[in-house]
Amino acid sequence: MAATKEYRLFCLENPLLDIQAFGNEALLEKYGLKANDAILAEDKHQGIFEDLLNNYDAKLIAGGAAQNTARGAQYMLPPNSVVFAGGVGDDKYAAILHDAVKQVGLRVEYRVDPAVPTGRCGVVITGHNRSMCTELGAANHYDLEHLKKPEVWALVEGAEAYYVGGYHFTVCPPAIMELCKQAAAGNKPFILSLSAPFIPQFFKEPLDASAPYWDYVIGNETEAAAYAESHGLGTTDVRQIARALADLPKANPARKRVAVITQGTEPTIVAVQGEDGVREFAVHPIAKEEINDTTGAGDAFAGGFCAGIIQGRSLADAVDMGQWLAKLSIKELGPSYPFPKQTY
Ligand code: ADP
Ligand code: MG
Ligand code: MG
Repeated sequence: MAATKEYRLFCLENPLLDIQAFGNEALLEKYGLKANDAILAEDKHQGIFEDLLNNYDAKLIAGGAAQNTARGAQYMLPPNSVVFAGGVGDDKYAAILHDAVKQVGLRVEYRVDPAVPTGRCGVVITGHNRSMCTELGAANHYDLEHLKKPEVWALVEGAEAYYVGGYHFTVCPPAIMELCKQAAAGNKPFILSLSAPFIPQFFKEPLDASAPYWDYVIGNETEAAAYAESHGLGTTDVRQIARALADLPKANPARKRVAVITQGTEPTIVAVQGEDGVREFAVHPIAKEEINDTTGAGDAFAGGFCAGIIQGRSLADAVDMGQWLAKLSIKELGPSYPFPKQTY
């Protein structure tokens, strides 16, 4: 029975523990961080994670873009609807991740690498600025072998839709391609997030190999622009870029590709393969004083959107669910969702 089926959405990407705190100039200076930046951790940054935990009243959040999306989809769906796979270490950070996902009822299937620490993202907030320092750690060691383990593969086969975060193109493209092929073979939707401008810029080859399998492709305006530039589309117009994404060649002709481009407070642009023009959906307005933190707004949008797809809602409804969840999340600190739970 479709209505009672469990783990209908299977998600893959990089699990990271976000260690997020309000900091100060001295902290930034100590680690040589810019106030507003996103970098990969070098040797000199290694101490920052413990420092934030011990000295700055840090909030711990199960992060990683697609894990945020998975938590968001689970937030809106019945219990036991969503599973997330990725790589972690065997350390206290992984234990914290497990606790955090348990709180929202997200099932995780982690590849555990005892030799490498769990990925962490230290986030230092000073005023309206945020400095992010990421160490992918064990997330960088995810492999196809884990996806093919019988207990994980059973979840892949049982799922009705797949969501992959583009950051995973830096880690394990073969695992992504396995999910692509499962989706097409079973006529199930495959949903891809472009995730960041550097993915279409610097991981074009694996990204393009998966493109024929995208039933839904989601990105923000800067990711869309990066895609257009790296693919020589000759336009910076998000509507034209959405149109081009929707009309890329497709492996499974039974589903028309849908391209969804969010652009912060500007309307969300949706292009459907073979249709003329695009559809536009206004965002849910939110008063300035209600905005706490827009980090992960796009991840939350994708979570609500995926929940809509899983529930078989119309495209307009799925976009609305995405915008609703994004609005809830930006009222919170970090890519979090409010408890007690609100219902759509
Ligand atoms: P990303 O986080 O990837 O940059 P966007 O900034 O495009 O993604 O935000 C995704 C969605 O989040 C938007 O389409 C909108 O629904 C919602 N959103 C983001 N910022 C705001 C805002 N200031 N007010 C209302 N909604 C917002
Ligand atoms: Mg944005
Ligand atoms: Mg985003």
